[in-house]
Amino acid sequence: MTGRYAPSPSGRMHLGNLCCCLLAWLSTKSKGGQVLLRIEDLDTLRCPRVFADAIVDDLAWLGLSADGPDPTPYQSERSEIYQHYYDSLADRGLVYPCFCSRSQLHAASAPHRSDGQVVYPGTCRGLTPAEIAAQSKTKAPAWRVQVPDEVIGFTDGHMGYYEENLARDCGDFYLRRGDGVFAYQLAVVVDDALMGVTEVVRGADLLSSTPRQLWLYRELGLPAPQFYHLPLLLAPDGRRLSKRDGDQSLENLRARFSPEEVVGRLAFAVGLQDAPRPRTPQSLVSDFSWARIPKHDILLPENLF
Ligand code: GLU
Repeated sequence: MTGRYAPSPSGRMHLGNLCCCLLAWLSTKSKGGQVLLRIEDLDTLRCPRVFADAIVDDLAWLGLSADGPDPTPYQSERSEIYQHYYDSLADRGLVYPCFCSRSQLHAASAPHRSDGQVVYPGTCRGLTPAEIAAQSKTKAPAWRVQVPDEVIGFTDGHMGYYEENLARDCGDFYLRRGDGVFAYQLAVVVDDALMGVTEVVRGADLLSSTPRQLWLYRELGLPAPQFYHLPLLLAPDGRRLSKRDGDQSLENLRARFSPEEVVGRLAFAVGLQDAPRPRTPQSLVSDFSWARIPKHDILLPENLF
């Protein structure tokens, strides 16, 4: 039984990130498992080391330190590994270059997914070698993988059954950007499988990525974990928390509360205790249950933090 944290260090953690870490830790520990940490810094410009270091320090302060691996894997250092799996898809003719600009992709006529992303209409799928050579002279293409007209469904441990028809609801998706950076969808699948992760706990904003990832697991011959998607934690006024909300960042919380106060208040907000009493993570393990966590978005109570 192995769970994980996979934060993207594009800023200091906020309460939403923390909620995800707390529930991943509790879910795994309640089954007697270990929790691994991986830093998802594929986009190194947006994810400087200082934020990764701060995440490790914040987790330790909260009593949520990971059990391994040592050293911590950084996705920015694992390109050769992703390349191997990317090549195995490319060798099967499933990968093609895409020259579409952002404005072409977001044309008013483009069908949109439930998460606001565009369903890629396959514009560049049929380019001839001569067209590819001509377009490559002026632009480095991104690379997409061709998905089947197939429904991929799964039963989420918390949210229940979810499915998508990959061709209709998603379209061919990126495996690699024009600047050579591998896409999250590929890296997360390869890393969770190679790290032996058996349980993934993460925010519901990633529920709709899961069919794509399950298909990649299948095509790459890798074992897929069990998924648990948790509801989004929203500010008292219904706003989405973001790393720009300084008031909800760990930096600010650490200046105002003890670790037990932060953990206890958060546990109260997500339904794990009936009053915002200070708690250690360890003290929440024995009566942790997914049944106590709501399935809908959670509004943080006014003045809790
Ligand atoms: N790195 C992602 C994030 O911080 C999480 C990815 C995942 O859990 O699959 O939002």
